[in-house]
Amino acid sequence: MRILITGGAGFLGSHLCERLLNEGNEVICLDNFYTGRKQNIAHLLENPYFELVRHDVTDPFKFEVDQIYNLACPASPPHYQHNPIKTTKTSVMGAIHCLGLAKRIGARVFQASTSEVYGDPEIHPQPESYKGSVNPIGIRACYDEGKRCAETLFFDYHRQNRVDIRIARIFNTYGPRMLPDDGRVVSNFIMQALRGEDLTIYGDGTQTRSFCYVDDLIEGFVRLMNAPDLTGPVNLGNPGEFTMLELAKKILSKVGGSSGLTFRDLPGDDPLQRQPDITLARTALGWEPKVALDEGLDRAIEYFRKC
Ligand code: NAD
Ligand code: UDP
Repeated sequence: MRILITGGAGFLGSHLCERLLNEGNEVICLDNFYTGRKQNIAHLLENPYFELVRHDVTDPFKFEVDQIYNLACPASPPHYQHNPIKTTKTSVMGAIHCLGLAKRIGARVFQASTSEVYGDPEIHPQPESYKGSVNPIGIRACYDEGKRCAETLFFDYHRQNRVDIRIARIFNTYGPRMLPDDGRVVSNFIMQALRGEDLTIYGDGTQTRSFCYVDDLIEGFVRLMNAPDLTGPVNLGNPGEFTMLELAKKILSKVGGSSGLTFRDLPGDDPLQRQPDITLARTALGWEPKVALDEGLDRAIEYFRKC
């Protein structure tokens, strides 16, 4: 197949490019390099089945492809809050342009949605049926509401124009090729520990997240994209749930050194708990994560040591 990946030079996108090329597909990677890097895909440039296009998804684009994965959007809170208007435009206009293209050429289109559509959840763990609790005027809204609107567009193109859609709700994912300074918790803690600096805990550190290793997530992407008759949304994430204090202690014990903990204010609207209910992914896709946090952190630390 010929496959378009928007945001293909980012953390998740570059792993997806690699996986789809390895399976014998042609891949077109479209990216504006806001948070993506050429070095993430430099090793793919010699591959005759790989094409790199510098383009912004807020402008229309046209390619003849069989499948489209829409990943373009900064994912780290400091990055998506840096230019919040652009973040909403990227989610909403990027979705419109992917869906318009999919409609014209009859391609199947996949949306990288997020657990952020559940906001600060009142139901725990979160099943796909939970409608969420998002503050529409807060500092995370550019991302959360942008992604919610993208899901709305996907379903309206599906109902109105029969576009063949797939929606994954991705929970926190980590691994090699995350930017060392992107501000997400796993990269922050590991880089701080490696530099011998104190780890920055926001709030009292009792808020929870569930961390999925990148290889597991990419397997879930490919299974969902190629499943017959399953629009989603489907939660993809690792149900292991940890407080930020537990994560910090785990990383400190692995890296060693003299770092302590420094407490900072909790950013606005930071969700207090998050854990995916992956019953649907288990039953419909036969998917579940295989890499436990300890093993994934070891691999991530090895990568960040070389950064
Ligand atoms: P990332 O920031 O590494 O990758 C995003 C990519 O999109 C980058 O290469 C960036 O340059 C590109 N991009 C941003 N705006 C663009 C635009 N206007 N036009 C073209 N390209 C643009 O983030 P990631 O972690 O790889 O996330 C990929 C996708 O998965 C995002 O849509 C994100 O919302 C979603 N997601 C990720 C996670 C996670 O934990 N990694 C969790 C939930 C959802
Ligand atoms: N966090 C933290 N210290 C950091 C970075 C993040 O305590 O240096 C916390 C953050 O407040 C949040 C959790 O870690 O509660 C996960 O943050 P991240 O930015 O990785 O992802 P998201 O909040 O989008 O899930």
